[in-house]
Amino acid sequence: MVSLVCLDLLACTCCQRKGYNDTLMYGLLHLESGEIMQVTYLYHSGYFVETETAYLLFDYYKGTIPEMVEEKPLVVFVSHSHVDHYNREIYHLLEIHPDTRYILAKDIPTKKLIAEWKEQGIDLEPHITSIRKNTTESLELSNGKRICITTLKSTDAGVAYLVDYENQTIYHAGDLNLWYWEGESKQYNDNMTKGYLREMEKLRNKHIDVAFVPLDPRLELHAFDGMKIFMEYTDCQQVYPMHMWEDYRIIQEFVACNEKYRKRIVDIVSKYT
Ligand SMILES: [Zn+2]
Repeated sequence: MVSLVCLDLLACTCCQRKGYNDTLMYGLLHLESGEIMQVTYLYHSGYFVETETAYLLFDYYKGTIPEMVEEKPLVVFVSHSHVDHYNREIYHLLEIHPDTRYILAKDIPTKKLIAEWKEQGIDLEPHITSIRKNTTESLELSNGKRICITTLKSTDAGVAYLVDYENQTIYHAGDLNLWYWEGESKQYNDNMTKGYLREMEKLRNKHIDVAFVPLDPRLELHAFDGMKIFMEYTDCQQVYPMHMWEDYRIIQEFVACNEKYRKRIVDIVSKYT
């Protein structure tokens, strides 16, 4: 049985803050464990998660990152190297928040990167963990707490992340989606479907507190397919759609066709427009 959570979307005070745009959203999640998590939508697939003891940043390439206190470590996740998921600006976060770790999918070459940043006086090496598909890594953060990171194989490039931290499970799909394109061959779409189902099988019945999952309008008739399978397979409390190319109407269209998921899908813009 899926447990409901209470989602309090704050009044629009966040949008009035300097530098914030109208696509930014705060959600306060009261988790079953009694802990509170705050989720901020940055842009496209970029999300910022604040737990009671750490910050997690996923697939940042654009948007305003909320202010951070130095006592909480920051973990930055990059699912793959595509420009809509990765911006080398993330390494400048070290200048304002030295307690930062980077979890990078293997398709991001690090050797040259480390050498380049060394020339600028920033030693990235101790901050970077490169991670392969289908693997699990457990890291100890500076606050003494462990974060356990499991990767899935994306159906596009790189990985999806399943993160366990302090009794909270967070999933960020990256570009793991059912990319079923009308113009593609039957074989391509069959392989795509098989690949997506294989990865979703790994999440079957898994309890996930917060998930970030693509809902891409460019897929037209098949835009809902990946999300529906994710909702069907997992026991996920709250799902934040992403990869919408600013066409946020797709969220309402999805819930209108899939009423049973309405309570678990978080709308992004309509709360504020
Ligand atoms: Zn993408």
